[in-house]
Amino acid sequence: MSGKTCYQCGQEIGFWSVFKSMWPTRIFCPYCKTKNSYKYGHMIGLAFAVATIPLAYIALVIASLSIQNSNEFLPVYWLVIYLVLLELLLLVTTWSLRRHGQLIIRK
Ligand SMILES: [Zn+2]
Repeated sequence: MSGKTCYQCGQEIGFWSVFKSMWPTRIFCPYCKTKNSYKYGHMIGLAFAVATIPLAYIALVIASLSIQNSNEFLPVYWLVIYLVLLELLLLVTTWSLRRHGQLIIRK
């Protein structure tokens, strides 16, 4: 078993299908529409959710360092930086899931 091929049809599940899935146990194969799931998907999803909390703080630190005077824009800066950091974390997670993960069929 690998983290890239569908358990059901054996086709390679692309990066985007994993990236856009909201949770590691809800990976839909673009070819046969089978719902695949990563082994330990719930734990991985939970770890991701926990990791978003320190990420919010890091985004706040970066945002307040990058603007000195105009504090009224701080929430906007924070949100933009936070979303960028989230996407980066999601990219890394998707990459490592496809590389190291194990797809299993979801019953
Ligand atoms: Zn498939």
